[in-house]
Amino acid sequence: MQIFAPKESDPQETRAALVPETVSRLVKLGAAVTVESGIGDAAAWPDKSYEEAGATLSPDRLAALGSADIVFRVGKPPEAEIDAQKKGAIHLSFLDPFNERGLIERFAKAGVTAVSLEMMPRTTLAQKMDALSSQASLAGYQAVLLAADRLPKIFPMMMTPAGTLSPSRVFIVGVGVAGLQAIATAGKRLGARVEAFDTRPVVETEVKSLGAKFIKIDIGETGQTAQGYAKELTPEQIEKQRQGMAKVCSRSDIVITTAKLFGRKAPVIITKDMVAGMSPGSVIVDLAAEGGGNVEGTVLDEEVVTPNGVRIIGHGRLECRVPQHASQMYSSNLTNFVDHFWDEEAKRVKLDLDDEILQGCVITHDGAIVHERFKDS
Ligand code: NAD
Repeated sequence: MQIFAPKESDPQETRAALVPETVSRLVKLGAAVTVESGIGDAAAWPDKSYEEAGATLSPDRLAALGSADIVFRVGKPPEAEIDAQKKGAIHLSFLDPFNERGLIERFAKAGVTAVSLEMMPRTTLAQKMDALSSQASLAGYQAVLLAADRLPKIFPMMMTPAGTLSPSRVFIVGVGVAGLQAIATAGKRLGARVEAFDTRPVVETEVKSLGAKFIKIDIGETGQTAQGYAKELTPEQIEKQRQGMAKVCSRSDIVITTAKLFGRKAPVIITKDMVAGMSPGSVIVDLAAEGGGNVEGTVLDEEVVTPNGVRIIGHGRLECRVPQHASQMYSSNLTNFVDHFWDEEAKRVKLDLDDEILQGCVITHDGAIVHERFKDS
């Protein structure tokens, strides 16, 4: 069974879908692994390290795509490269299927089995293949470091002969995977005073266990989906949330927003007025920037300083700033998928589409769009 990982097509992408460690795992399993030359350049893995791990290097992407049974990528492929894949091949990457109808139709047409990592079910069994989570934890960590770098203050309390510095105050909005890492990094690792809020009240215990304060705002009935994602709030609830958060924002040096709604635009929860109430020098990191942003005034991939001196950071994919670890976790997620569905006797991956995990994440198969959510859209 041939596995191929090309270099990413997006010039901003720094991650690689395979790292030397996962190449070794796949080779041990019985797969033949090929990577495109230069795949690990941006993550500081030279070609040689892939060869030493047992991979073959290919300078010819289209030829390697044409002979691969499984293709690993981080981001979606250029459509023309889908056509280069073998009929019956399996493709694994982020695909953004809610917004990429044309792309998934192309996969169907090419007879490729496309697996969307965004759609991986949130079950205990599938956790090891959950790339959204592995990448979100790094983004949460990185958001805090970025904010710390821009803040004209330090995080921890410091008592010195020159006086006492009080700890910086950090407010985390949205306590999912990224939010929890942000709380741990800002509070436990860097010594700030942390407060947090989420519409899912179940996270209060987790917030407290990390030594942070959970902000209670009465916005009425909220909840979560079977997959653990937040449900959308009504406009009235969002307004109540804003009112409840305004005071906390105004006393915070840093606000990090991570509030996302799976498959939908992110809710705008911090308005211009709330930003105007913050002190000069304060920093907001909007981790939802790619999904439209949680903050009025966020510009994707930019840093904007408001007239009252608040810096709003809208950089997307913060995990790309730690490409070695991001690639390590990502490629491990994909390798775990192969391992999970590996048929030891046949020495190949066998997919039974009745499987609960595959029903969640396989979008196209055998010439058709097979995922319930995208079949008729
Ligand atoms: P996400 O990225 O979709 O959203 C981030 C957070 O924003 C969530 O906690 C969400 O509740 C919150 N949010 C949404 N709207 C908000 C609003 N208006 N105000 C404030 N917060 C708002 O979510 P996620 O980080 O991917 O994970 C959500 C949950 O799923 C977490 O509890 C996580 O632990 C759980 N999870 C479970 C598994 C598993 O069981 N395998 C895997 C991953 C995540």
